[in-house]
Amino acid sequence: MKKIDIVVPIFNEEDMIGLFLNRLCNVINNLKNYQFEILFIDDGSKDKSLAILKECKKLDNRINYISLSRNFGKEAALLAGIDYCDGDAVIFIDVDLQDPPEIIPEMISNWEEGYEDVYAQRKTRRGDSFLKKLTAKLYYFTLQSVTSVDIQKDTGDFRLLDRKCIDALKNVREVARNSKGIFSWIGFKKKAILYDREPRKAGKSKWNYKKLFRLAADGITSFTISPLRTSIYIGIPVLITFFGFFAYYLINHNTFSEEISFQNIIILLILLFAGIQIILFGIIGEYLGRIFLETKHRPLYLVREESKTKAK
Ligand code: UDP
Ligand code: MG
Repeated sequence: MKKIDIVVPIFNEEDMIGLFLNRLCNVINNLKNYQFEILFIDDGSKDKSLAILKECKKLDNRINYISLSRNFGKEAALLAGIDYCDGDAVIFIDVDLQDPPEIIPEMISNWEEGYEDVYAQRKTRRGDSFLKKLTAKLYYFTLQSVTSVDIQKDTGDFRLLDRKCIDALKNVREVARNSKGIFSWIGFKKKAILYDREPRKAGKSKWNYKKLFRLAADGITSFTISPLRTSIYIGIPVLITFFGFFAYYLINHNTFSEEISFQNIIILLILLFAGIQIILFGIIGEYLGRIFLETKHRPLYLVREESKTKAK
């Protein structure tokens, strides 16, 4: 019998766990041909989440949990799931029921047809503000235009991955993680399933614009060095233009001894060159920062306690 692991990251979700398990079990209890494991990754919750998970495990032996020593963020929690799951396939799903468990059977049947990465694609984004929808659109557009890898639109982490993908993902251990980008990057046979994204059922979203911006920046800079090149493309014409102007003013000044306020030009040039340099330094700094992070080779998460051992 094939085994499917359902990996659920949790951060302060005491109100959601029960609701989630109810809906999930309604679905998977009907899939009698598969063995399921529900693997919760407690991402350093400060509320009663872990205690609830322990109670749930007593009632249902399909449940396991990994509890991280602090909040490492959803990306690291998913990686812990990747390291610990041992099934033939894994499904990542949010606990807040924004990802409807009801489409899991469809994911599985697509997997059985040979697709290795069956991802859920949002038809609608109910419950998301206009601003969030707009920024999401802009983000996908930007990310796609700077990379040659196909980026799946309107797709989150809700997906089924074959063991082959999991093994591939285990080797992608960069620190500035962006799962969306990494899922695209690993390739494999992909298939989209459309669904309506529902509003969160209880609790609060753990995202704010600062976190989202960070994630978006990670997505772009971890994918490509083209922002670096863009700055050069912008920098060169700007420099040429200013050398041109500089020469023009110098000639004018020498031949006609015209009194153009030379000081002003100098000030202007200094400002502009300084501006260009700052932009370039900023971009170089961003990459340097990443090199710094990667060379530390720190573990991406630390486990405090677990109810199962890590898969080989
Ligand atoms: N989550 C997590 N660690 C974090 C933030 C979130 O494990 O630092 C989990 C959270 O419990 C939920 C999922 O990631 O299961 C998605 O989070 P959320 O619903 O807050 O994100 P949104 O749907 O608003 O993008
Ligand atoms: Mg959510």
